[in-house]
Amino acid sequence: MVTDLSCQCGKVHLVVSQEPIMVAECYCNSCREAVRRMEALPGAPKVVGAYGSSHYVMYRKDRVQISQGKEWLRNFRLGPKSPTRRVIASCCNTPVLTELKGGHWASLYGNLWHGQALPKADLRTQTTNAPDGSILDDAVPAGGWETTKFYGRLLAAWAAMGFKSPVLALDTPEVELRG
Ligand SMILES: [Zn+2]
Ligand SMILES: [Zn+2]
Repeated sequence: MVTDLSCQCGKVHLVVSQEPIMVAECYCNSCREAVRRMEALPGAPKVVGAYGSSHYVMYRKDRVQISQGKEWLRNFRLGPKSPTRRVIASCCNTPVLTELKGGHWASLYGNLWHGQALPKADLRTQTTNAPDGSILDDAVPAGGWETTKFYGRLLAAWAAMGFKSPVLALDTPEVELRG
């Protein structure tokens, strides 16, 4: 199965193959801070995720391809030493993905799904960082055991890849998104 994804204006396209490793809604402070900065960009879409979280569809990196519009991509980091880079499509300020240095997966922002059904979250992570007043029902699992399974699935995917971490060839300019 191949899925064609795009930014909101359609200049950037990504092709992902097969199923994601999993789908997670992350409430950690870093992800929420990144959402805040990205949403402040001109014309930026609202980031998909409840209460300022990020709805991430996590794919093996070897199953993600930037098929069009690579030149529009920009990276940013929350701090100069942050091991995590986030990629946005500067044509329309759509968040594209989050990548942990050395990681074997890419976390694609739910914003890329247009016209196809956005895969539903398998779990919520770091819900203790959710803003006060957030109402998180039990429809999506969260908590210690779910998080343990989450790491288990990431590890299983890595094993299936022969413990290799392919590099997403995104030599895109780094930009600063101030807090
Ligand atoms: Zn665009
Ligand atoms: Zn996070």
